[in-house]
Amino acid sequence: MSDERAERIADFIGPLRVKPGSKVRLERDFDPRYKAGLKKRDGIELLRTGVSLLAEYQERLAAQDTYGVLLCLQALDAGGKDGTIRHVMSGVNPQGVRVSSFKVPSAEELDHDYLWRYAQRLPTRGEIAIFNRSHYEEVLVVRVHPENLVRQKLPDDTRGPDIWQRRYREINHWERYLTDNGFKVVKIFLNLSKEEQRTRFLKRIDRPEKNWKFSAADVRERRRWDDYQHAFSEMLSATSTKWAPWYVVPADRKWFGRICAAAILVHTLMDIDPQYPDVGEEARKELLVAKRDLEQEAPAGAPADPYADRHPSAARATGRRARPKKKRGQGVSSK
Ligand code: ATP
Ligand code: MG
Repeated sequence: MSDERAERIADFIGPLRVKPGSKVRLERDFDPRYKAGLKKRDGIELLRTGVSLLAEYQERLAAQDTYGVLLCLQALDAGGKDGTIRHVMSGVNPQGVRVSSFKVPSAEELDHDYLWRYAQRLPTRGEIAIFNRSHYEEVLVVRVHPENLVRQKLPDDTRGPDIWQRRYREINHWERYLTDNGFKVVKIFLNLSKEEQRTRFLKRIDRPEKNWKFSAADVRERRRWDDYQHAFSEMLSATSTKWAPWYVVPADRKWFGRICAAAILVHTLMDIDPQYPDVGEEARKELLVAKRDLEQEAPAGAPADPYADRHPSAARATGRRARPKKKRGQGVSSK
């Protein structure tokens, strides 16, 4: 990865990052239609690059087995969470990614503290976990609809008006704890305009194959648009931290939102800079012994190391010539 490319990615996502400590007002500070002067045509190539970089980094992350990444995705209905996950993760090895969607909490989940169910789904080392909705619902939908809080069975003296400030603090501490223990946390809010949401809802109603995606509850939630914008603004202001920043991704153009999400994830992985493990002197010696044994098994006429034959640079790394010296026209035998 060239430093120049790393810098370009950092510059690209810079305007989307919520500066820790800043006071956000969504409608004023972030434009859902922003597209950094790009055209959809350029977007296809950029997304392809992002996806292949992600695949490469994810492999290194898994091989190193030291760090994990948690990506939290939040959006209003029809914001594009599902499509973002599908496109951005399209090139990565499914074994290294775990996607969890969080819905209305179950009776069992409500019997625990509010972070419990999210803690069950954290990434392991070497893994990327994606939260499709996340612990941030606990300061969003729960705040907009306080009856959710009643269901959480909290002791009376912990349900005062300062509860949201307290939850912000607890979430920040939790994310700090995760970061300090090798788990990077990165958060994306897909920022949709009210008009684009209306259009997408209508599409889901007008096209029969999209009907299943629409529910009457979506329209009920839309009526609380301003309350949600307020809850999002407060959340972004209080929980974008140096260790776990928020990015507000413009979501009115799906193609642009996806490029941003890929770039943010690549940037996070580049920051970790995972390395393939070095096996060490002893293990290396064992490898060379095994190599010699395998080479001696070569059938007559076959190259000692067919792989090295085809990949001379890899053979140089093991300190051996790819092909034993031979005279012109002479076959190669391991014996
Ligand atoms: P899609 O509609 O694209 O399938 P979705 O994430 O909107 O995906 P739904 O099943 O429609 O999934 O909705 C899940 C619902 O669960 C949302 O309305 C969300 O606000 C709600 N929810 C999530 N977490 C909580 C929570 N902690 N308390 C109460 N409601 C929650
Ligand atoms: Mg929904």
